[in-house]
Formats: sequence, structure tokens, C-alpha cells
Amino acid sequence: MTTTTTDKLIYLDNNATTRLDPSVIEEMLPFLKEHYGNPSSGYAFAARARKALDFARERLTALLGCEPSEIVFTSGGTESNNAVISSALQSDPRGKHVVTSAVEHSAVLRPCQDLTKRGCEVTFVGVDRDGHVDLVELEAAIRPETALVSMMWANNETGVLFPVEQIAEICRAKGVLFHTDAVQAVGKIPIRLRDTVINFLSLSAHKFHGPKGVGALYVNRRTRFLPLIAGGGQENGRRGGTENVASIAGLGKAAERAAEYLPQEQTQVRAMRDRFEKAILQSVNGASVNGARAARLPNTTSFLFEGIESPAALLLLDRHHICCSAGSACRTGSQEASHVLRAMDSSSDVARRSLRFSLGRYNCESQIDRAIEIVPKVVERLRQLSPALETAVSTVATAL
Ligand SMILES: *Cc1c(COP(=O)(O)O)cnc(C)c1O
Repeated sequence: MTTTTTDKLIYLDNNATTRLDPSVIEEMLPFLKEHYGNPSSGYAFAARARKALDFARERLTALLGCEPSEIVFTSGGTESNNAVISSALQSDPRGKHVVTSAVEHSAVLRPCQDLTKRGCEVTFVGVDRDGHVDLVELEAAIRPETALVSMMWANNETGVLFPVEQIAEICRAKGVLFHTDAVQAVGKIPIRLRDTVINFLSLSAHKFHGPKGVGALYVNRRTRFLPLIAGGGQENGRRGGTENVASIAGLGKAAERAAEYLPQEQTQVRAMRDRFEKAILQSVNGASVNGARAARLPNTTSFLFEGIESPAALLLLDRHHICCSAGSACRTGSQEASHVLRAMDSSSDVARRSLRFSLGRYNCESQIDRAIEIVPKVVERLRQLSPALETAVSTVATAL
């Protein structure tokens, strides 16, 4: 195996994870080196660690437009999602039903599927070809025994945005708790939770240039929450376990940087994405953008390329040091095609023939130029290959 030097690398997979901001590393180092005290200890030496948690909480609330008491630090997006689902069902004695969408991340879908094995019903609301949910259908799915509605803010595969503020209003009117998996939205679009009636929101630091393995859950101050992880009284009794101080400090810094970069995300990153999208559509026949007519994140584009198999395309793009993905990173290695793209169009083979490119603040115009040059060549090459050879390449790709 050869390793790719990072200067050659064209990293267009920022929805899978992001590069650490150098200032985030600087923020973390003192807590790995010197200030190793346990934030729960009473002596002055530990106060530094405790203060770091408070500071990070404040920085995060500035990004989200909420109160420090509404933040619970967790191990990431997956834990936050699991905690909400578990809490909502435990705190509602009538709760035997959950409503979610068919296009959620596996960190919502899997815990929901597990619920169905434990006597709880789940309604998975579908989407149309553009990735939109039908709000009338969503409202009709809510029953007297519904404990929770969980709908993502931005889809990780297509970037399609759900009108979560509106969905939260529907849930409020029906007296049902509303959660949004906002892992892809935080740092990419403006969020002001105090202007919404959202009860719970999940986020993850490594999707906005923070460290992996740390995230947060927003719990509205008037919303009841029962912890998933019981232990010491950390996080106001809402999440047991000694806090991951360095990572939480890093998350705080990443949140501050994300707030600074938000205008740039909306202009520079969006402009790069639009330029890339336009150029590919112009130079490749039989190419289209999944969710093109929907409101989308500024950084994401998901292409359908007729006549290719996405695993084979990933293999060839990797040779050119281009990192992108077919659907979600969490599914790579499994034969299963994207459940998101299948939900948008079950009749076609869009799920097998799509590639997702997700940009970020560390991408530059010259990398986009390279991608605009290479992607059409790779698609062309794959179309020239005989179907048999294509199947062979795709088998090898999946086996790797
Ligand atoms: C990455 C991601 C997650 C999982 O977050 P982790 O911190 O990696 O556990 C959940 N939901 C969405 C939409 C994601 O993109």
C-alpha cells in the first residue's frame, strides 16, 4: 500500500469527516499536556479543566443561539441521537411510537430499527425524487402514542435540507417532542435555536473541523431528558463519565471558528461547489445532480452518472488522489447501495451509480480545477470498459 501525501490529496469528502483546524489543535494541547486535572475535583489545579468546559459550552451556544445549560457534551453524533431516542421513549409513559424519515443517517435509523424489535412502532416517512418530505404525510403519521419525531436538518449524502423549524412547529402543535440530527448542518448554515421550538439537536465536532469522538446534544431547557449513560453527576447529571476535556475544548474552538467562517461557507464554498457542479454537468453526458431542485447545503453535490458503478469510480478516483464517496462513509465496504438515493428513486439504479463530493474551507480553486479535469475522464473510462470488466472491478472494490 502506498500512502498519499497530503499535498497531492484532493479531499472532497468533508461530509465524512474534516481536517482539524490548526487553532483547534492549539486549544487542545494544554489539556493533554499540563492541565490534566479532573474537572470534578475540588482543588484549584482542576479548576482550569472545569473552566475549559464552561468556556467551550459558551462558545458552542454562540454558534447555536441557545443557553449554556441546554448543552450536554457527548461522544459524538451517534451517542446524541441514541440518547434522545432512549430518553423520549422512557419519559413518555404512553410512548410506543416514533416518526422519522427514510433518509436518516444510520445513527438514527439503526436505533429506530432496534426499537421495532422491542415492541415499539416506527413510521419511516418517505421522500420524493427531490428528497423532500411531505409535511401533510408527516403530520398524519403522528399518533396519540407518538413519543418522538426525529428528522435530520441536512442530509449527509445529498445535502438536501428539511424544513425542521416548520416540522418542529407541527410537532409542538401536536404535543410531540421533536429532535433533529443536525450533524451536517452545524457550521454550514446559520442556526438560532432560541427562535425555534426544537426540543433536541445533535451535533458532532469532527464534521466542522473539530476532533473525532466528541459532540453535543442540545436539550431545550423546558424539555425533560433522561440520561442514556448513568454514572457520576457530570454534565448536570445528564451524561455520566469524566469529561473528555481536551476534545471538548477543541469542540468549543471549532464552534468559534465555524461561526467566523459561516459567511465564507455561504459564499466561497458555495461558489466552488456550484462551479464544480456546473462544469461536470457540462462536460459529462448522462450526468445529473441528486436533489438538484431542493434547498441544499452549500458544500455538497451528489451526482448520478449513467453507465458507471460507483465502487469502480471510487477506485479510479483514489488513484488520482481524489477522496469522495458513494453515499455515506459509514456504509463503505457493504454491498448495500445508498438507502437515501433508493428512497428518492426506487425505480432506477441511481443508488449504484452516484458519487458524493463534499467541499470544505480547506479546498482551493486549483483542487476544484483538477477534479473538473479528472472526474469526466474517470466516468468516460468506466463507460468504455465492458460490462463484465466493470463488474469485476466493482467486486474487487467492494472486497477491499
Ligand atoms: C457523521 C454523522 C453522524 C454520526 O456522527 P459521529 O460523531 O461520527 O458519531 C450522524 N448523523 C449525520 C447526519 C452524520 O453525518
